Amino acid sequence: MLDLTVNIYNTLGKSVQELVPNEDGKIGMYTCGPTVYHYAHIGNLRTYIMEDVLEKTLRFVGYDVKRVMNITDVGHLASDGDTGEDKMLAGAKREHKSVMDIARFYTDAFRTDAEKLNIRWPDVVEPATNCIPEFIEMIQTLLDKGFAYVAGENVYFDTSKLKEYYVLSAQNEEELVVGARDDVEEDVNKKNKADFVLWFTKSKFENQELKWESPWGLGYPGWHIECSCISKKHLGEYLDIHCGGVDNIFPHHTNEIAQSESSFGHKWCNYWFHVNHLNTSSGKMAKSAGGFLTVSSLEEKNYDPMVYRFFCLQSHYRKPLEFSFDALDNVSAAYDKLVARISRLNPSVDAMEKWQFACAEGPDFRKAGQAPEGVEESVYLEWEKNFAGSLANDINTSSAITALYDVLKADTDDTTKAALVLRFDEVLSLDLGRAFRAPEESVDDELASYVEEMIAKRAEAKKAKDFAAADAIRDELAAKGITLKDTREGTTWERS
Ligand code: AMP
Ligand code: ZN
Repeated sequence: MLDLTVNIYNTLGKSVQELVPNEDGKIGMYTCGPTVYHYAHIGNLRTYIMEDVLEKTLRFVGYDVKRVMNITDVGHLASDGDTGEDKMLAGAKREHKSVMDIARFYTDAFRTDAEKLNIRWPDVVEPATNCIPEFIEMIQTLLDKGFAYVAGENVYFDTSKLKEYYVLSAQNEEELVVGARDDVEEDVNKKNKADFVLWFTKSKFENQELKWESPWGLGYPGWHIECSCISKKHLGEYLDIHCGGVDNIFPHHTNEIAQSESSFGHKWCNYWFHVNHLNTSSGKMAKSAGGFLTVSSLEEKNYDPMVYRFFCLQSHYRKPLEFSFDALDNVSAAYDKLVARISRLNPSVDAMEKWQFACAEGPDFRKAGQAPEGVEESVYLEWEKNFAGSLANDINTSSAITALYDVLKADTDDTTKAALVLRFDEVLSLDLGRAFRAPEESVDDELASYVEEMIAKRAEAKKAKDFAAADAIRDELAAKGITLKDTREGTTWERS
């Protein structure tokens, strides 16, 4: 473990605070996953990139991190305030498919985007529809403890039972409540304006496709309960860090805290990490606004996904970031120059081979505070700490990138510089190692036919709804450096 403290801005407390985990050396981290009714746009992906940097910073420093993410495949309505149409249902109608088909398709598409952006797939990824018994159990506990009530055949959380409900947000309560509802439409069943649905049975969505038996009748869960329960299932009742975009602060995260702490009877999560929005000149990038940009639309315009990641890393995660193609062009030129600059290094082939081998064989991350063979040890260790220090200062990625440029200018040998570039890239994940690789050989026929065969098997498994087998095939190919991409025209592949 590197000898430094990690400080991050905590929305709970509204200040930069020293990160002190519940258990020494270990961190439990929960991330709100995507609502899989459409492709993730590059705004969503800004949030996932910056959360990835946070996770990798913690691993770089030497923490053992367990990261869990949900997939929202039920219960997220058009307005976060429990009104409007179910987003999954709207997606299914739009594409004339079933909700589960839509969920599978866009979960796969999200995974492909994450791979392209070098976002590490969390240790546990759990779709909400997998956890109905857990939701029912927590809702029952909330009813038993008097924090919930049944009205109009739905189950609601009673916010008036809390000493403090608005724990995360500084704004005026009235403003927040109205701000969250795009189509203000009062639900007459609610005892208090801020109450929210835990379980729907009676709703205006008669055509809701997915419904489950529950003690309160056939129905489906609200959106917020899924994160409280999935986090508890995999990370227990004491969580270190919870992440999301700033729009999740209210009502989603506020409601998660209300549910979890009322059912556990104690404080739940210590640090709340929120990433600010990606905007365009006309406002926040949003799926519902249409015309949004995806990783594929950037690729169609010939931008390497790494350029978008580099673009995100150059600004601080707590500031809004305005997207423009002019800005992306500048970053693209800077990225090419950086890779060219690194390619001009002339490290010891022997040392590099050992280094690469160690990275490929071992865990994703080098052991913190241990210089590899063949480098100038004191220089390496000083820069490793300097780089980690920038990130430990509330994930200051632009200053970490400055450290990278400074290493390239530093007065040390090329082997040490190359080793540092690769070490820094464990967090930056800009594929800087490409500078040291031989140009791609052409793909041989044997490999191509093997991959095609695996794609066909995966399609069969998906058709038979054996999603575990389909995922296993994808993982097997990923381990061989093959990335699959699911498109409307079928599955394509490329070497990653
Ligand atoms: P969703 O799929 O809508 O549930 O959103 C997935 C994640 O993206 C959540 O953490 C949101 O807070 C985040 N998000 C939504 N819009 C943006 C945006 N324009 N910029 C950055 N993050 C966003
Ligand atoms: Zn969530």
